[in-house]
Amino acid sequence: MFQQDLHIDGEWRSGSTGRRYPVIDPADSTEIATFAVASEADCVAAIRAADRALPEWTATPPRDRSEILRRCFEIMQEEEERLAEIIVRENGKAYVDALTEARYAREFFRWFAEEAVRIRGDFRLSPSGDKRITIVQQGIGVSVLITPWNFPAAMATRKIAPALAAGCTVVLKPASETPLTAAYVIDVMVRAGTPPGVVNLVVPQPAGPGVQAMLRHPSVRKLSFTGSTEVGRTLLKEAADYVISSSMELGGNAPFIVLPGADIAETVSGAMVAKMRNGGSACTAANRFYVHVSLIEEFTERLAEEMGRITMGPGLTPTNSLGALVSVKERDKVAALVDRAIEEGAHVRLGGSPSESGAFFPPTILTNIRHGSHITTNEIFGPVVTLIPFDEVESAIEMANDTIYGLIAYVYGPHNEAMTTALRIESGMVGVNRALLSDPAASFGGVKQSGLGREGGFGGIKEFLEEKYVGSAL
Ligand code: NAD
Repeated sequence: MFQQDLHIDGEWRSGSTGRRYPVIDPADSTEIATFAVASEADCVAAIRAADRALPEWTATPPRDRSEILRRCFEIMQEEEERLAEIIVRENGKAYVDALTEARYAREFFRWFAEEAVRIRGDFRLSPSGDKRITIVQQGIGVSVLITPWNFPAAMATRKIAPALAAGCTVVLKPASETPLTAAYVIDVMVRAGTPPGVVNLVVPQPAGPGVQAMLRHPSVRKLSFTGSTEVGRTLLKEAADYVISSSMELGGNAPFIVLPGADIAETVSGAMVAKMRNGGSACTAANRFYVHVSLIEEFTERLAEEMGRITMGPGLTPTNSLGALVSVKERDKVAALVDRAIEEGAHVRLGGSPSESGAFFPPTILTNIRHGSHITTNEIFGPVVTLIPFDEVESAIEMANDTIYGLIAYVYGPHNEAMTTALRIESGMVGVNRALLSDPAASFGGVKQSGLGREGGFGGIKEFLEEKYVGSAL
């Protein structure tokens, strides 16, 4: 059922050392596959293959590149259920979340198939009138793409599609927890006619030395990373040694502000999406709920009712709307955050304790949370709501901005007040009376320590393009 090998230079390979590692289903801790481990030599071989494939791919007419990407979209559309099942098996999320991801992921192929033929330049007379200024946009070159486990398909396609549209060749390094989804995406690309070497897949274990070997290679021009801020900082330092252009989609600590006068039913349904989408394992997940004192009781009550209705269990059972976290380690991380919050005075309104077997953590609501406490300064990455009341909108804005992160925020309330508040939040994205923002046609990314650069929208392809200025005689 699963492709379990590396993909280098158009071939599926088991890796030069022959080593494999187990891929675990987090719902029941069973081994579902053994994936090939990439040695440093395999990682470098993948970069060399990408480098060899680069001239021809760059010279491939944009329309042809576009049509390959479009075929990837179509194959993923035909096979959405197959992809959703692979995602559930290795990531643990509920089937409904996996299917939503499968649909979101393929849209990056469609969007960037459309962008591939619209790369523009600039041609004009210099202000002094002594020369022509020509600006061309060219693919930056061989790109290393590193992705996390929480959206194993979408985070890969969000990078691969713009890179290939721009004329770059790539090596994808997915999270070790979720290599099967990545291998599926590469398999789709092979079937869609992507030439050998244009897209390669390596899974070094541990990740560090293999990635370093790739970044040291002189052909590498781009690092595009999605993952935690901590690992992002390390990679930025490593990329600095070779002055490699870096795009970073990092962690978040999203505030969800409920203003006085907010419509409670609309706000609760928004809170359910902002918190519970993907089981809370999303960089966009609301982490801290700042609710006006006039609404906090009713909001808490209605949210507890909604969260209490969620059925938790193995993701493949269609009636379960909350699946497992990606691993028992991740479950224990969420549990440790909750335990520490309780020690610091939080009250448990719902849930609070992990499952004994499998990587499950139930929908949880914590009240009596102090702004600035441990759980409000760390990314929870699980189905845990922390509630903090406020009196003045000014203080809600201050608390929302009091973080090193700035990926996304949510504001619910009367439209004008919510818009005014949104404009004062320090984040790359804000949802105003709207909890689902991710859209391949919009630019996704953070400010502060949540990232550098944007993915999707019109900016996504620019991360993989470089401007060249050609000055010429009149
Ligand atoms: P992570 O940072 O632990 O790992 C991300 C990737 O980096 C994985 O492929 C991992 O194998 C690799 N990696 C880890 N250590 C490395 C090293 N020393 N050198 C090279 N590569 C290394 O993140 P995760 O736990 O997989 O994912 C969760 C994090 O991702 C959260 O912080 C979340 O907010 C973030 N995220 C951000 C976005 C966004 O768009 N901003 C989207 C999804 C997830």
